[in-house]
Amino acid sequence: MKVLVPVKRVIDANVKVRVKADHSGVELTNVKMAMNPFCEIAVEEAVRMKEAGAASEVVAVSAGPTQAQETIRTALAMGADRGVLIHSDDPLEPLAVAKLLKAVVEKEGADLVIMGKQAIDGDNNQTGQMLAALLGWPQGTFASKLELADGAMKVTREVDGGLEIVELKMPCVVTVDLRLNQPRYASLPNIMKAKKKPIETLTPADLGVDTTPRVSVLQVVEPPARKAGVKVASVAELVDKLRNEAKVI
Ligand code: AMP
Repeated sequence: MKVLVPVKRVIDANVKVRVKADHSGVELTNVKMAMNPFCEIAVEEAVRMKEAGAASEVVAVSAGPTQAQETIRTALAMGADRGVLIHSDDPLEPLAVAKLLKAVVEKEGADLVIMGKQAIDGDNNQTGQMLAALLGWPQGTFASKLELADGAMKVTREVDGGLEIVELKMPCVVTVDLRLNQPRYASLPNIMKAKKKPIETLTPADLGVDTTPRVSVLQVVEPPARKAGVKVASVAELVDKLRNEAKVI
């Protein structure tokens, strides 16, 4: 079973994001970038499948600028076998990424795609769903547990107020949630080994995909500053404030 793991390069989750002065987007110059945390969880799950003998090969794919190679290298250091960079310096919307990934899935003959439920930069939560629709494959989103048995994928999904368990026919697309696993740190020897693993570079034109954006961003603004909190002396005072000032009870 060949597993494809799309990985996105985003601003590191520990960095305080700053909006550009002209409100056209967020500042990316000299900002630390890293693999999207949900993609790390997807890579970890795919590598565990390989270690368990369920997967024969794990291919990490990223669409973006040349630096997205670093994100692919991180996946290779975690245990992926090889990488594919779809090189583009243009902004890529989820639909464009889904079309690019579909072309790579078909070129590679992948049997399973495991990816993040969402990228923490755009918070789109769209790419996996769009990819499954374009491929005509079943999808299991927000996975917190995966079990592969008898050619089917059992996906435990985190839904409002509980868990839903669905069974998907293979091939399928799975998007992963936070509680699926705890991604490993790449060891130094594995980081060194990853430098020798191959990364193929393709362009959207190679894959026959037009990535022209369909949505234009009008403005990006900071969230409003939060007001300072107030300490109350007693429960009675708290209840009084909630009832008479905030009027929420
Ligand atoms: P999104 O729909 O943008 O929230 O992203 C959901 C998931 O799609 C991410 O966790 C990645 O697995 C994948 N994805 C999104 N954009 C890219 C990209 N440029 N390259 C590779 N994978 C991506």
